[in-house]
Amino acid sequence: MSDPKTMLAVSAHAADFVWRAGGAIALYVERGYKVRVLCLSYGERGESERLWRQPGMTLERVKESRRAESQQAADLLGAEIRFFDSGDYPLKPSEPVVQEMVMEFRRHQPEFVLTHSLADPYNPDHPEAAQLTFRARVYAQAAGYPAEGKKLEAPPVFMFEPHQPEQCEFKPQVLLDITPVFGRKRKAMESMEAQEHLWQYYTDLALRRGTQAVRNSGRKEIKYAEAFQRVYPQVTTELS
Ligand SMILES: [Zn+2]
Repeated sequence: MSDPKTMLAVSAHAADFVWRAGGAIALYVERGYKVRVLCLSYGERGESERLWRQPGMTLERVKESRRAESQQAADLLGAEIRFFDSGDYPLKPSEPVVQEMVMEFRRHQPEFVLTHSLADPYNPDHPEAAQLTFRARVYAQAAGYPAEGKKLEAPPVFMFEPHQPEQCEFKPQVLLDITPVFGRKRKAMESMEAQEHLWQYYTDLALRRGTQAVRNSGRKEIKYAEAFQRVYPQVTTELS
């Protein structure tokens, strides 16, 4: 049997991939894809407010807790997850981390890639993660770059929806129907106990994008959707 196709998702922090792409991940796992999440940081300083309210909390304990939540969410979605622990506020990956990301691209030859938007005035680590993803993808395409494995072709990159899309110059160009797997996304979101305030927010967002998906397609069976924006042009033989 041939190797399964792979989807790669690069998440700045422990929970980003869950809120923004949990539906896409669960959907492609259901379709037989191997999904790999590269989690660059635990978000231990910036996105763990609730944990820091506990007396005597330490950076190490926050990281452990966020890692466990994130691992559980990935398990529920059916994804493999790799943690890089590259710091938070600021996210500062070393050159060896960039090299490892290049290896991920070459080793797994993803069909497509998901990551953050290029702008986010609320969290500079998100655009940093996007830039790193583009760097790793471009290096993996370069025949002369010293990394193992076959050089990468040109997998499309989709940016997933940021928390406040209007401020992040995000345009929802693609609406992905995640209705069949929304229950799994909700369960994965509920693993992120440090950010319980976002469970309903991202449920409401999925419903709203679902309504827009119906408006733009006429497919009334769609209830939940996730929005994405392309980085590179779509190459096609059909305009439909
Ligand atoms: Zn984040």
